[in-house]
Amino acid sequence: MKIAMIGSVHSDGLSILEKNGCDVFEITDFSSDSLIAKLQDVDGIALRTAKLTKDVLEKCHKLKIVARHGVGYDNVDLNYLNEKKIALAITGTANAVTVAEHVMAMFLNVCKIIKQSDKLVRDGKFAEKSSLPDFFELYEKNILILGFGRIGRALAKRCLGFDARVFVYDPFIDASIIKENNCIPADFDKGLRTSDFISVHMPLNEKTKNMIAKDQLMMMKKTCILVNTARGGIINEQDLIWALTNKEIYGAGIDVYEQEPPNINNPLFKLNNIILTPHIAGLTLECRKRMAIETCENVLHYLNDRSKLNIKNIINGKKIGLEI
Ligand code: NAD
Repeated sequence: MKIAMIGSVHSDGLSILEKNGCDVFEITDFSSDSLIAKLQDVDGIALRTAKLTKDVLEKCHKLKIVARHGVGYDNVDLNYLNEKKIALAITGTANAVTVAEHVMAMFLNVCKIIKQSDKLVRDGKFAEKSSLPDFFELYEKNILILGFGRIGRALAKRCLGFDARVFVYDPFIDASIIKENNCIPADFDKGLRTSDFISVHMPLNEKTKNMIAKDQLMMMKKTCILVNTARGGIINEQDLIWALTNKEIYGAGIDVYEQEPPNINNPLFKLNNIILTPHIAGLTLECRKRMAIETCENVLHYLNDRSKLNIKNIINGKKIGLEI
């Protein structure tokens, strides 16, 4: 079996394929021409963040599975895969806790003004600590989680550990499941108005794009802290810049951007009340190992032995007629 790695994955995953006799090679040039030239006879693809468009996929004559290293799949033409009955796998169990921890790091960093305090000490202004703005606790605060899937639930558990009240908005999840997880089902607008911390955990699609724009930012408390580790564009970036500049909200933590990498002149970079990370919420060493292993096992088991496959990882199972 010939397997292409589009982008590199941790060697713990690679060795699973090699030990099982697969012919594995890595692609580092993600241009359409390069992908078309190299993917024509592969049986499987392990994919990081490069785009797999219909133009490229149409030339993959032997392809049976695309396995994403991660859980988002907006970089793949899913309609084409469904049409051709090609499986699309994700690493469903690998990164929820990792991203949830990143959100906690952002919540705590912003509410405890760690960045500003660090600068104050380094600037020799230790004695001027009273010049710092008010800062806050998570304890007994209202936290709104938008999207109650794998990451939203892992985050809820951690917030509850801080004795916060956790509200959830997810119209696709039954209220009983939210309550079973010790959280409170919330109306979207009311949740925005009453929360101290808000974190976004749904996919980017036509419905969620710009779901948080000026109107929604204006509903939030002036002390609200907003975090996005899901996808750029769910929060309108220009409107977020406006809200942070005008102190409509207290602060933000952003791991994902409307354009990645973001332009060096992005006005977000000039703001002090925001923590920025380069789309790394799921990239701890532990998580990279787990994702590499799960990605490669998805490919191997799908092609070799379906009895070992974690069927929940095949997101288009029904569409391609896989027995579930
Ligand atoms: P998931 O599929 O398990 O959960 C998504 C949840 O969003 C579902 O419960 C769904 O019902 C809900 N949802 C969908 N549309 C909604 C809407 N309009 N309003 C409210 N809820 C809605 O996904 P997950 O594994 O929890 O991942 C969530 C997001 O995090 C994805 O966008 C993924 O791409 C992103 N992610 C980012 C990183 C990173 O490194 N920054 C890493 C992993 C995942």
